[in-house]
Amino acid sequence: MTRTCAWDELIGQTRAVTHLRAAVETGSVAHAYLFVGPPGAGKKRAAKALACALICDDGGCGSCRTCYRIKRGLHPDVRIYEPEGAASYLLDEQIRPLIHDVHLRPNEADVKVYVLAQADLMRDAQANAFLKTLEEPPPNVVMVLLAPAYDSVLPTVASRCQIVRFTSVPPQTAERLLAERTGAAPAEARAALAATGGVLSNAVEFLESSGRREARSRMLAILKDLTAYDAHDVLQAARELLVLVKAPLEELKAIHAEEIRDRDEFVGKVPGKAMEDRHKRQLTAREREGITEVLSIAESWLRDCLALSQGLDGMVVNGDVKDAMYEVAGVITPSAAIRALDAVREARRRISYNVSPQLAVEAMLFDIQEVLLCPR
Ligand SMILES: [Zn+2]
Repeated sequence: MTRTCAWDELIGQTRAVTHLRAAVETGSVAHAYLFVGPPGAGKKRAAKALACALICDDGGCGSCRTCYRIKRGLHPDVRIYEPEGAASYLLDEQIRPLIHDVHLRPNEADVKVYVLAQADLMRDAQANAFLKTLEEPPPNVVMVLLAPAYDSVLPTVASRCQIVRFTSVPPQTAERLLAERTGAAPAEARAALAATGGVLSNAVEFLESSGRREARSRMLAILKDLTAYDAHDVLQAARELLVLVKAPLEELKAIHAEEIRDRDEFVGKVPGKAMEDRHKRQLTAREREGITEVLSIAESWLRDCLALSQGLDGMVVNGDVKDAMYEVAGVITPSAAIRALDAVREARRRISYNVSPQLAVEAMLFDIQEVLLCPR
């Protein structure tokens, strides 16, 4: 049996992982890294895996208490800095304590790891304050900056870091890797990727969450029966769908409860307010993701119908409900399909402008219904 480790959670990033592992194993870890790559490529996971490899007594086993705390953001020597609240950049109030903290001794490990998510949002003033720390951190400190692209980071910052590139994984490779990792059938893997915007780590979580899979099934069932609904049915369907979207929040709340218990065990190491805020942010983000996910599923279903109508069966991503789509595919024209897809896009736009998800989904279902009733 092969031993599992923290690096295993990175899927499809062999080059970056090989490079970082070798650095740890040969004792040649740089004092500052810049991980660049598209959102969802696994940069933050990689930063945590690197911290596990450096701090865990077992070289980053991924399963001991130390690794567990690092992955959950509970380890006092692994600090993750992210833009907070409405501010879309790192605040001076975040950077200054960081610069001070770097020079304090580690709490319990031999090294301290600082992860700066979205280093591309760092502004000149903060970067200037931060440069000296970045250039010459104390010997037991590793800085990991994350950004979508090398060019998006201030050159003064980027030039002081060793660059590690994360790539987007091509769809077919992603399907294969996901199926291998989770044991899902290829069709399930494909549907999971369609639901999660092709983000591999998110697709793994989707397949592991019965609540999220149930929301998908419900969305697909609604689309299948939509033309037979009266107005009351549509409103009811939207309401039920949103109840299902919120169900996986309970899974996240259970994880949070566990973290709070753990925090009590390591009392004083992590301020309670910070954790509370983080939990709140995660719940809001998860709810938003859940809605985005069902919208993506509606989108992929409509695209599938369009593909089938053009005889492009190989492009279908929701293979498990193909039979139900033939009826729509038999009558829908490309321009009608585009109108229905616009309805989904509109729902997404409305939600991003803080329209209630309930209203946005209701309007979307009515619009799609109108198209499907007259699919010319
Ligand atoms: Zn470990």
